[in-house]
Amino acid sequence: MSETRTTCPYCGVGCGVLVSPDGSVRGDPDHPANYGRLCSKGSALGETIDLDGRLLQPEIGGDPASWDAALDLVASRFAQAIAEHGPDSVAFYVSGQLLTEDYYVANKLMKGYIGSANIDTNSRLCMASSVAGHKRAFGTDTVPGTYEDLEQAELLVLVGSNLAWCHPVLWQRVQAAREKTGMKVVVIDPRRTVTADGADLHLAIQPDEDAAVFGHLLAHLWEVGAIDAAYVRDHVDGFAEALAAARAAPEPSVDLREFCRLWARTERVVTVYSQGVNQSICGTDKVASILNCHLATGRIGQPGMGPFSVTGQPNAMGGREVGGLANMLANHLDIDNTDHRGALQTFWGSPAMCTVPGLKAIDLFDACAEGRIKALWVMSTNPAVSLPDASRVADAIRTVPFTVVSDIMARTDTGDLADVLLPASGWGEKSGTVTNSERRISRQRRFLPVPGQARPDWKIICDVAKRMGFDGFDFATEAEVFAEYASSTALSVEFGRDLDLTGLSGLSAKAYDTLKPIQWPVAADGAAGGRFFAGGGFYHHGGRARMLPVTPPVAQPAGFVLNTGRIRDQWHTMTRTGKSPRLGAHLAEPFVEIHPDDAARIGAAPAGLIALRAGRARGLFRTWVTDRVQPGQLFVPMHWTRQTGPASLSNVAVKVGTDPYSGQPALKAGRVDAAPYEAEWYGFLACRAHPKVNTPYAAIARTTTGWQVEMAGDVPLDDWAGMLHNIAGAGAISRYDDPASGQVRVALSANGGLEAVLFVAPEPVRVARQTVVAQIGTDISPLLALAGRPAEGIADAGPIVCSCMSVGRNTILDAVRAGASSVDAVGAVCGAGTSCGSCRAEIAGLLVQDAPKLAAE
Ligand code: SF4
Repeated sequence: MSETRTTCPYCGVGCGVLVSPDGSVRGDPDHPANYGRLCSKGSALGETIDLDGRLLQPEIGGDPASWDAALDLVASRFAQAIAEHGPDSVAFYVSGQLLTEDYYVANKLMKGYIGSANIDTNSRLCMASSVAGHKRAFGTDTVPGTYEDLEQAELLVLVGSNLAWCHPVLWQRVQAAREKTGMKVVVIDPRRTVTADGADLHLAIQPDEDAAVFGHLLAHLWEVGAIDAAYVRDHVDGFAEALAAARAAPEPSVDLREFCRLWARTERVVTVYSQGVNQSICGTDKVASILNCHLATGRIGQPGMGPFSVTGQPNAMGGREVGGLANMLANHLDIDNTDHRGALQTFWGSPAMCTVPGLKAIDLFDACAEGRIKALWVMSTNPAVSLPDASRVADAIRTVPFTVVSDIMARTDTGDLADVLLPASGWGEKSGTVTNSERRISRQRRFLPVPGQARPDWKIICDVAKRMGFDGFDFATEAEVFAEYASSTALSVEFGRDLDLTGLSGLSAKAYDTLKPIQWPVAADGAAGGRFFAGGGFYHHGGRARMLPVTPPVAQPAGFVLNTGRIRDQWHTMTRTGKSPRLGAHLAEPFVEIHPDDAARIGAAPAGLIALRAGRARGLFRTWVTDRVQPGQLFVPMHWTRQTGPASLSNVAVKVGTDPYSGQPALKAGRVDAAPYEAEWYGFLACRAHPKVNTPYAAIARTTTGWQVEMAGDVPLDDWAGMLHNIAGAGAISRYDDPASGQVRVALSANGGLEAVLFVAPEPVRVARQTVVAQIGTDISPLLALAGRPAEGIADAGPIVCSCMSVGRNTILDAVRAGASSVDAVGAVCGAGTSCGSCRAEIAGLLVQDAPKLAAE
């Protein structure tokens, strides 16, 4: 049997994947996003498609139910709410994980049939400021460039983007191009990320200082005569006002002379920006400040030139196309334009078009808390974890009289709050399209049987719509949904907008099935792809762009600034990547990066725990003392949930503002207090069975032999054997106590094998974790297991850096000690970095940081 050609379901790079019948995956060499590459997450996709934890049948009130009963109930409760309280009393909160076909019918139902625009998406947390920024500057939400531009640039500027970890395959493409062309890379980021380690220049700005940096740059470009006066004259409005504001902007805190010199003298400049720009109270202005520099120099829409927003999610762009935000219509049309609304309503033949923008994500859950939303449907996302002030969001969802969650997983923090759970098909089980960051539409194809009673999201939505009495949802296949969507883009063309898929509107089922990755626009004559705006052609009146005056924000109030973000090997709330022991081995618990000066000031010890507080909310995180963050700034990862780190939800302790234009929450700049957590004890547990842990701090992760838990508590305990029995069941206990150090080690054996082992100490536990994990399930003597270290003559590999080859930090540093002075040389010695390549930036960082120290040993 042949491989199935599909698309990775994680980040916005949108890599092509080939899946074998045995579930193994490899990069699609013919896909223009990745040309055969995959990152660590993509490479581990085959480990995440089991049915463990899946929701496989509808549930009502926690009890199994038939599809008919569940769909009837959902339809009747939504219809009842609309009848009693009006269309704006119901809401959908959807996801950039949905396929375009799912998104299309969800929008059609809410905006064209229910008659409300109360449908928003978790993409609001990701790139809404870029959407608003594009619309303000260009007149539409247009990404002007292509991935090739990142390779063709002579200067690549990465702003608020940890590309090496968050879009690893794009970073690999950039690295390959750099080796050939000598392209310069500048990273602008308050934090020294692994991407910054690999840059030619790192500008460690203060949070939200980006607009001041690009304002300073614009003023410099003017002073040195680098403005493209003809381009501005012919295609751009607002130059004088934007320049005046830029010249009045405060002096940034970093030395920009080299950056400005590079930008001014280099024609082929690409500026890539991501969540570090978007997740801000002034994200849309930051985008404007970047676009201003490209518009003023005419460096846009030509090979190797232009601003480039990279999306976090696999189908954030597809959602934008079909109107997946509460303030837009499908086809890049506007809700507040009567002609646009009327044309779309005529196209749909629908009964009740929305007339005003709906509630954006934060406002939507505020409305839930205030009792204004009577029925809520959450699709394929987990707002009780992912939104800021997550506990308040959970309380808001509890307030809604009727909540539906459709998801692939039986237990999520949001699903636990639902009245009705609907089982959705997962990656590999459903079929449709996604659009990546460069406007390229790719097919996701089914290669697994649909398990249990799961159904694709588009079908669930259509079934509810039909039960609500609406026609217009009689789609037999996802191909029919796509065909209607593509046809509807004729309206975009009619109104002079950018989104044109008319060349795909007559697509047959067979042609849809075999559709190759294609970049829009796809004109009626079949011409496809390319760049926008090299010769103007913007979408504001007169075909002109708008530069905007930007006033950088004033300094923020006191307290630590909390930056939240992704780590290399996990995706969102880990419902899928958390299944892979390989991925879990990289960074297995939630941590807080804190500067050494701050750690000393608050009395936080390395590897201890820090409590972050905002009001009454608190989160506990492992202390990582590092100068990667600046004094006064903290970083925590966003992935842990009530299932995997109940005390460590990054967003519980975050109260943030939102951007006034985009409504995007400022997840990069929360304000928190930080203090050491006074632990009485720390523990490390490895076990075979899924652990049920109820300690004040617990971080649970899969391992190759079962599970591991990092734990701690602030109340003295003694019955460690009892705890181990409670977690791992019956068996023989072996215990070792060291009264001098206060350490306790307990092993539990059953049926001739090691079931669990627990290490407890008054200080953070020091054991060779990979060794301990590997011993679970073996017939090793319990007393040997209690040693917590490798057998004589075997080295402790340390924490895993290379997930594919399972190479630890200690092994890499040994290679460096032995003389390896490059990433390739390290790979030749120990194999690290020789498979998917996602860890190469981290190895390079170790070489930069540790090689000099090791040489001095
Ligand atoms: Fe998937 Fe990695 Fe490609 Fe992103 S870079 S689409 S996570 S394989």
